[in-house]
Amino acid sequence: MGLYVMWTDMRWPRMIKTAVSAAAALVLVAILIPMTNPPEREIGGVYLVDEEVEIGVYGPEAPADREVIEIYAPRYTAVILEPTATPEPVIVYCNNGGRYYHTEDCKYVNDDTPYVKLNKAVEAGYTKCAECDAPEAY
Ligand SMILES: [Zn+2]
Repeated sequence: MGLYVMWTDMRWPRMIKTAVSAAAALVLVAILIPMTNPPEREIGGVYLVDEEVEIGVYGPEAPADREVIEIYAPRYTAVILEPTATPEPVIVYCNNGGRYYHTEDCKYVNDDTPYVKLNKAVEAGYTKCAECDAPEAY
């Protein structure tokens, strides 16, 4: 349609009209050819030419100062579904004015020996009694 209007209505020199028409035709062909007749390509692949296979890898050399970084790509992500138990508070016995914390049945513990949580005893400066099996401070 555009070309027809150009040929009939416009007052362009015949050469230009011909050139525009040819260009339009070329564009049309260039668009149509790949759609109808895709260019043939060589099929890539590896083929053996002898019984002994020799494979060469070609490419740009790696920079000499490049750091080698091992990439760790886990295939699975462990999901731990076990509930974390709320730790029972560890109770120890500390005599007033003493330096050590004790278990309940330590010989240094009396009926009136105050008991506290282990972390509180440690914060207060008490250390593990060597006589009883007091729990380690964490
Ligand atoms: Zn003790």
